Amino acid sequence: MQSDNTHKLLGIRHLTDSTYVLEIERRGMDFEAGQHILLGDASSLDKREYSIYSGTEDENLEVLIKEIEEGLVSKQLKRLEQGRPVEIEGPVGFFSIEKQDIEAKKKFLFIASGTGIAPFHSMVKSIPDLDYTLLHGVRHAHEAYEMEAYERDRYILCTTADDDGDFKGRVTDYIKQHEFDSDTVCFFCGNFNMIKDAMALMEKKGIPPAQLHAEVYF
Ligand SMILES: Cc1cc2nc3c(=O)[nH]c(=O)nc-3n(C[C@H](O)[C@H](O)[C@H](O)COP(=O)(O)OP(=O)(O)OC[C@H]3O[C@@H](n4cnc5c(N)ncnc54)[C@H](O)[C@@H]3O)c2cc1C
Repeated sequence: MQSDNTHKLLGIRHLTDSTYVLEIERRGMDFEAGQHILLGDASSLDKREYSIYSGTEDENLEVLIKEIEEGLVSKQLKRLEQGRPVEIEGPVGFFSIEKQDIEAKKKFLFIASGTGIAPFHSMVKSIPDLDYTLLHGVRHAHEAYEMEAYERDRYILCTTADDDGDFKGRVTDYIKQHEFDSDTVCFFCGNFNMIKDAMALMEKKGIPPAQLHAEVYF
């Protein structure tokens, strides 16, 4: 029997050996850029949270997933064949840009590690004329997932294991070496340690805590 929250898997784009984008039938699901869903193979009871990667006006729903070597759901979803059903709960979450900040044409700083770039991809696709800078921290430059989605001078790739990005070092090293306007609204997404350190640095640089928003993946 097909349950109401079942959506068909339309395709999979492999971006690296471990990272992929699932394209999923949207079925009219409404969401705000920055929100996430609970997603799993319909033949399994297990689900995990995944940020919505696609834009609010896109026909299909997309998520960007990194396969975790010792993980369960990120492996199950990678093996799914086109046409198979997935189960979705949501959307949920409050990691979104406030309307008044968009209208006030505020400056945004997006700070992501790895697949933590997913909600920012959705925000950039969904909200026209956004004044953003996106810091993306990865090990190798080939992990700059679909960077053509961002204006080139707004996307700063920080690589720790090779010299082929825009900046050699962690996103926190980049923050230490740069100044930011005190009215910048900051969004952090990815692993806990990066977020903790980056938020502390931004606070030290004089950004008020009310302008710091975080989504922790693990
Ligand atoms: C709000 C929210 C949004 C999320 N959005 C995304 C997303 O857009 N894309 C995405 O790939 N993941 C995202 N995650 C992480 C995701 O929910 C799963 O935790 C991840 O896919 C691992 O699930 P699993 O079943 O394969 O591994 P599990 O069997 O659940 O866990 C295996 C281990 O892997 C660790 N782990 C989890 N994620 C990572 C990671 N990225 N790198 C290294 N270790 C990790 C866990 O802490 C655990 O110790 C999000 C998490 C949250 C809370």
